[in-house]
Amino acid sequence: MNNKKIILTGDRPTGNLHIGHFIGSLRKRVELQNSGNYEPYILIADVQALTDNSDNPEKIRSNIIEVCLDYLGVGLDPNKSTIGIQSYIYPLTELTVYYMNLVTLARLQRNPTVKSEMKQKKYGANVPVGFLTYPISQAADITAFNAEVVPVGEDQLPVIEQTCEIVNAFNRIYGETLTMPKAMLEQNKVCQRLVGIDGNAKMSKSLGNTINLKDDSDTIKQKVMSMYTDPNHIHIEDPGQVEGNTVFTYLDAFATDEQIKALSEYSTLQEMKEHYKRGGLGDVKIKKILNEILQQILSPIRERRKIYENDRSQVMKILKDGSEKMLTVALQTLDNVRTKMGINYFKDKSFIDKYTN
Ligand code: ATP
Ligand code: MG
Repeated sequence: MNNKKIILTGDRPTGNLHIGHFIGSLRKRVELQNSGNYEPYILIADVQALTDNSDNPEKIRSNIIEVCLDYLGVGLDPNKSTIGIQSYIYPLTELTVYYMNLVTLARLQRNPTVKSEMKQKKYGANVPVGFLTYPISQAADITAFNAEVVPVGEDQLPVIEQTCEIVNAFNRIYGETLTMPKAMLEQNKVCQRLVGIDGNAKMSKSLGNTINLKDDSDTIKQKVMSMYTDPNHIHIEDPGQVEGNTVFTYLDAFATDEQIKALSEYSTLQEMKEHYKRGGLGDVKIKKILNEILQQILSPIRERRKIYENDRSQVMKILKDGSEKMLTVALQTLDNVRTKMGINYFKDKSFIDKYTN
C-alpha cells in the first residue's frame, strides 16, 4: 500500500537553474524525496516555456537536458523522483482545454504574477493567449498527478490559488474528482523569492541576474565580488546598511552560524551584521565570506552534475522513462475526468443505452 504524499513541481527550460531555484524549491524537493514520505513528480515545463518563446524553440530544446542535469546535480534521484517532459505528456493539453471553461478572462487578467510578468515582457494587449492562460495549464499539471503538495517560490502562489479554484469548480460541477493541492513555501522569507545579484526583486533566468548551479568557481567569485551592497558604504569605517544589501540577503539565505564562525572572527551572522552597521567592516571581506559559503554549497552540486554531463545517454533514458511513467498516470486522470464530465461516450453504457437504440 502506497500512502506517500504526491508532490508535483517543475521548471521552465528557459535557461540553467540558479541558486534562487535551489534555495526556493530544489533543496526542499531533495529533502522531501529523501524523507521517504513523498512521491515527487517533476516536470520540465517546455509547453509553458514556449508560451513566451514561440519564436525561439531552440532556446527551449537546448535547455531540456541542461535542466535535467541541474536536477541530478542537486541530488534529485530518478529512483525516488520521476522526471518528465511536459509536451510528451499530451493528456495535460486536453485537461487544459476542459479547465479553460472554468476560468474567466477577467480572472486571468487579475493574476498578480502573470500581470507583472506581462509588464516585464511589455506585452500589453498583444500577450500570447497561451501565456495569459499558463496558470490553467499549470492546474492541469498539478491535478493530472493528483498532487497534494507543490513546493514553489513565492511568485507561484497566485498560480496555485488558480489551481485550487479550478479544482473547486470542477468537483462542484462534475462531482469529487480532482485532488486539492497545497503550496509549500520555504520558511525563511528571503528564500521564498531570492533577489538577483543586481539587487533586482527576483533572481530570474530571463533577467540575467543569476548565479547558476553549474557556474565554475571563478565565475561564482567574479559574480559575488561584483554584487550590489550599500551604495553609501564607501569607506570601511562608514556605518553600513544591512537591509536591502544583497550580500547580507544572501548570507541570510545561505549561511549558517557555524559557517560564519569557521570563516571569520564572528560567532554569529548577527554579530557580523552589527559590526557592519557600526562601521569598520569592509565590503570585500563580507563578499569573500559569502563567496566561500557559496563555493562550499555549489562545488558538490557541480561535481555530481559532471558525472551525468559525461553520460548524456543515461540522462535521456531517465527522461524517457520518467515521461512514460508520467504519461500513464496523466492518461488515467484524463480518463476519469472525461467520465465525470460525461464525454467518455464509447465507454459509457448509459449513453449507449439511451441514445443508440
Ligand atoms: P523564467 O524567467 O523563465 O520565468 P524563472 O527563473 O522564474 O524563469 P521558473 O522556471 O519560472 O524560473 O521557476 C521554477 C520554480 O523556481 C518556481 O517554483 C519558482 O517559484 C521558483 N523560483 C524561481 N526563481 C526564484 C527565486 N529567485 N527565488 C525563489 N524561488 C524561485
Ligand atoms: Mg518564472
